[in-house]
Amino acid sequence: MFKKILIIDDDARFNFSLQKNIETSLETDVSAVKDLDEKIEDLLEYDLYIIRLDDKTVDIITKLTDEDKFVILITKQDNKETREKILSYNVSDYVVTNSRASVDFVSKIVKRLYSNSKKTILIVDDSKLVLTQMSILLSSQNMHVVQCSDGEEAWKHLENSNSKKIDLVITDYEMPKLNGYELVKMIRAKYSFEELPLLVVSGSEDTYMISRFLKVGANDYITKPFINEEFMSRINNSLLIADMFKKIKGMAMTDQLTGLHNRLYFYEAGVKVLENASRAGQHSSIAMIDIDDFKSVNDTYGHEVGDKALIHIANTIKKVLRRSDIFVRFGGEEFVILLPNCPNKQAIKVMQKVCKSVAKTPLELNSDKNLRITISIGVTSILKDVDAMLETADKYMYEAKKSGKNRVVSKD
Ligand code: GH3
Ligand code: MG
Ligand code: MG
Ligand code: MG
Repeated sequence: MFKKILIIDDDARFNFSLQKNIETSLETDVSAVKDLDEKIEDLLEYDLYIIRLDDKTVDIITKLTDEDKFVILITKQDNKETREKILSYNVSDYVVTNSRASVDFVSKIVKRLYSNSKKTILIVDDSKLVLTQMSILLSSQNMHVVQCSDGEEAWKHLENSNSKKIDLVITDYEMPKLNGYELVKMIRAKYSFEELPLLVVSGSEDTYMISRFLKVGANDYITKPFINEEFMSRINNSLLIADMFKKIKGMAMTDQLTGLHNRLYFYEAGVKVLENASRAGQHSSIAMIDIDDFKSVNDTYGHEVGDKALIHIANTIKKVLRRSDIFVRFGGEEFVILLPNCPNKQAIKVMQKVCKSVAKTPLELNSDKNLRITISIGVTSILKDVDAMLETADKYMYEAKKSGKNRVVSKD
C-alpha cells in the first residue's frame, strides 16, 4: 500500500521537507515535482498524491479522484470558499499550509491513511443510501467496510469466527429486527471500549437518546444529517484512542527486561485458559521456575551481568516451549509457565527438558569465561484456581531447592 507517492507543489522547500519526513517514517518512494510541466512518465502510476490547489492543478485533481486515487490537497488559503471548493472534490483530506507544523500535519495524514488499510469498519443501517454514503467516505480514507442492514445481521457477523475482524462499529438507532440500542448493549456485554469502539449515528429527535447511548457503552454519537469532516474526525479519534489503549495495555503486560509477558498478563490469560481447560475436561499444568543462587551471580559479576543472565535464561526456556504455552516473568528471578492441555507426566518431561537446556547453555561472558546457571522447577497439574495452583507449584519448587536444586519436582 502506498508504494509510490507524488507531491505536486511549486514550493520546493516544503516539498523537500515533506518528502524527507514521509520517507523516514514509511517505506515508500516519494517523488516531488514543481508542476506537471516537469516530466512525469505516467501520472497514474502513483498510489497517493499530495497536490497544491491552484488553477493549474484543478484538472489533475478531478482526473485522479475519478480514477479512485487517494489525494491530499494543500493550500495556503484558509477561507470558506476554498474549504467548500476542496470538499466538492472527493479527496481524502486537506491541510492549510500556513504554519511550521504543516509538514507534520500532512505526513500524519499520510501515516493515518496508510494504517487505515488495516482497519475494517462495520456499518449498520437499514437505509441503503446511508450505507452507501458512509461506505464512500470510509473508503476514501482507505478503510475496509462491512455493511449490515440491521442489528441482528451485525451481531451475527461479530459472532461468526470466520468473519473479518472488526475494528469499529457504526450503528443507526431505528432498524428492524434489532435496533441500535439493543445492539450496543449486546456488544458491550462482550467487548470492552478499547476492544471494539462503537459510534452511533442517528437522526432521532429524542434529546435523551445521546446520553442513553453513551450510558450503555457507545464511545461517541453523531447526529444525522452529518458533516463529512466531523464524521471522519470522530471515527479517527475513536480509533486512535482504542489503539492507544491497546498499546498501553500491551506495555503494562510486558516485562521490559526480557520482553516476556508479566504477572498481570498471566492472571488475565491464565484464568481464561484454565476455565476453558476445565470446561473441556482437559489437563493443564503450571510450572514455577526459580533461578538457583542468583544472588551470588549478582554479587560476583554485578547487576548488569545478572540482567543479561535473566534475558539469556528466558530465551533458552522459550526455545523448548510450544507456542500455546503461556510463559511469563513472574517476578525478580522467577518465571511461570502454563501448559494448556498438558497432563502431569508430559509436563514433567517438558520441564526436565527446560531444566537440562538451561544447565547446558551457559551465558558467554567473554571469549574465555562462560557462566553456568541452573534453575529449580515445581510442577502441578491438579486443576484448581490460578492462585491455588501457583501456591502448589511454588511449594514443589522449594522442595526442588531443598533436595539439591537444578531439578524438577512434582508431587501431585
Ligand atoms: P536460591 O537458589 O535459593 O533461589 O537462591 P537465590 O540467590 O537465587 O535467591 P534469593 O531470593 O536470595 O535472591 C534472588 C536474587 O535475584 C536477589 C536479587 O537481587 C536478584 N534479582 C531479582 N530481580 C533481578 C533483576 O531484575 N536483575 C538482577 N540482576 N537481579 C535480580
Ligand atoms: Mg434507521
Ligand atoms: Mg526467588
Ligand atoms: Mg533464586
